[in-house]
Amino acid sequence: MVSLARGANYSHHWTAMAAASFCPSLPQHFKPVSISKFPQTSFSFKVFSSQSSAPKGPDENPTRLGFLGLGIMGSPMAHNLLKAGCDVTVWNRTKSKCDPLIDLGAKYKPSPAEVAASCDITFAMLADPESAMVVACGEDGAASGMGTGKGYVDISTVDGATSKLINEQIKETGALFLEAPVSGSKKPAEDGQLIFLTAGDKSLYDKVALYLDIMGKSRFYLGDVGNGAAMKLVVNMIMGSMMTSFAEGLLLGEKVGLDPNVVVEVISQGAISAPMFSMKGPSMVQSRYPTAFPLKHQQKDMRLALGLAESVSQSTPIAAAANELYKVAKSHGLSDHDFSAVIEALKVKLKD
Ligand code: NAP
Repeated sequence: MVSLARGANYSHHWTAMAAASFCPSLPQHFKPVSISKFPQTSFSFKVFSSQSSAPKGPDENPTRLGFLGLGIMGSPMAHNLLKAGCDVTVWNRTKSKCDPLIDLGAKYKPSPAEVAASCDITFAMLADPESAMVVACGEDGAASGMGTGKGYVDISTVDGATSKLINEQIKETGALFLEAPVSGSKKPAEDGQLIFLTAGDKSLYDKVALYLDIMGKSRFYLGDVGNGAAMKLVVNMIMGSMMTSFAEGLLLGEKVGLDPNVVVEVISQGAISAPMFSMKGPSMVQSRYPTAFPLKHQQKDMRLALGLAESVSQSTPIAAAANELYKVAKSHGLSDHDFSAVIEALKVKLKD
């Protein structure tokens, strides 16, 4: 067991588990299979209206929902559950982030274990594999409060190996587990427009569908634990590479005398247009990077995606090069800026 405190010393057990998570061995479901052999993916669009009354548990009491991790994403997601009339109990390492939700009617418990013990379903939205692991399985972690009839839904972006370790620990208590990382950023989280990439216990997926539909616009059920994590890492690897390529283009255009605002506009009208370019381009041109997706998390996702590629000997040279730029940006103190601040790493390079 490990402590939930910041900078805690991890046990040898956890160190070994963490090492496994950063160099995941090849899981069965990643072994090459022809596309036609993949199982049918379950995919649903939003069906639940946030005006509907909160769903009831088997005893006709409202289903009690826990929410662990109230950062950029977790806070608006928990807020949307509350707005929809759900019974929500919150916990966050930095307690002050619970206060706005408590003011809106959320209950509070002082540890993940106590949240899990008092709730039917507990959602977790943590920064990275280490925090997802410590909050789920550490001392006073959620697993200590789980048991038969309960469910744990981990929305954090982690690697498949970490997700499997959490799955094992939760399942040992008799509870069910679902990994459910999301595609979409701060604004989609606020607007209930996230895309859930789920895998794990199908019965828990069916049970939490109502809540995923409050927080998101669509959901995919992808089968075995690890598939949701893999899907999320593939998507974010592409996104991270796209952003560095966009940044290079903006700077090259500027250097040869083009107006970068016009570059953004031209891109937005052509076949390579993407909401990400149109949304972030104008502020990047002004060297402003208001944080929606912290750069440190994008670099974490590149690192985890490269680990995934390594585990199946897949060449990913573009992502590897992009990852280096995120590392440079981190070393220049840009970790907590939006990931679009990676453009600053190229400015540094050009100056050198
Ligand atoms: P964030 O604002 O940095 O929030 C991270 C959360 O993790 C906070 O609640 C933080 O608690 C908690 N945490 C960090 N280390 C911890 C530890 N050792 N023990 C306990 N709690 C810890 O991140 P975010 O943007 O909400 O992202 C959360 C997850 O979603 C990440 O995995 C990210 O990759 C993924 N994601 C983010 C976006 C996005 O656009 N932001 C989009 C999709 C997916 P404190 O408040 O105490 O620091």
